[in-house]
Amino acid sequence: MDLGLRDKVALVTGSSRGLGRAVAEELAAEGASLVLCARGETQLSRTLDDISQRYQARVVAVPADLSEPKAVQQLVSTARREMGRVDILVTNAGGPPAGGFSDLTPEMWQEGIELTLKSVLNLVRGVLPDMRKQRWGRIINITSVAVKQPIDNLILSNSLRAAVTGLARSLANEVARLNITVNNVMPGYTQTQRLEELADQIARRERVERRDVFQGWERDIPMGRLGEPRELAALVAFLASERASYITGGSMAVDGGLVRSLL
Ligand code: NAD
Repeated sequence: MDLGLRDKVALVTGSSRGLGRAVAEELAAEGASLVLCARGETQLSRTLDDISQRYQARVVAVPADLSEPKAVQQLVSTARREMGRVDILVTNAGGPPAGGFSDLTPEMWQEGIELTLKSVLNLVRGVLPDMRKQRWGRIINITSVAVKQPIDNLILSNSLRAAVTGLARSLANEVARLNITVNNVMPGYTQTQRLEELADQIARRERVERRDVFQGWERDIPMGRLGEPRELAALVAFLASERASYITGGSMAVDGGLVRSLL
């Protein structure tokens, strides 16, 4: 299937590793030009070299902390300067810290809001004027299955992903007539460094082995295994494509069947 991504420019944030990187690779494999972003310069430039060599793709990398509105503004203006415009925005970043209600200070809530909610707002603000002008665009947010079913001890993520979902659904309605689609992809347990870190935290707290944490997750997943980042990336690439022109306002899980709800 030709996804029609050959002339498109995609800005994928949080893309030096994990899910963001897998999305960037999938889009590059489909011929899109890419703007990558993460905080750490070393890992980011390694990812840039890997992707541009493997896929002969045009790639630019911009180090930026997404929780800083000025950095987001600079990121978008660099993307526009280097690539001319942004056709596809994939919002993604590190997850907010784990914890329950009594573990989190007001400062941690504020930082979580900046990183998980306001970064999306600022990124959209940056790319939307061009999308409106060209009457075409794709906005895809990486959220979490926590939107369907809150995950224990992740109260920040549970709360803020729901806010991103509300923002996306409302925006989708406002821009639908301009051929701009807005969707969310909800990862379940997917094999990345963040998940390893989360498993270590849980293992320490519950005084069990890391292996036990992973086995517990696998037992809950009908497919009996964790997801691979490329399995999520395949859906993002489809939603970013011409082929997904009538899909907007949705949230789709890539979770091996983890969430049992009917809809
Ligand atoms: P990860 O930690 O492996 O990768 C995160 C990426 O974002 C890295 O490239 C990192 O450099 C970048 N990043 C982190 N903070 C940033 C910041 N402030 N500014 C710019 N870049 C920043 O995480 P992942 O597992 O790939 O997950 C990506 C997102 O998906 C996270 O928000 C996570 O909570 C969510 N998620 C992941 C899973 C999973 O199982 N992996 C499940 C549900 C939701």
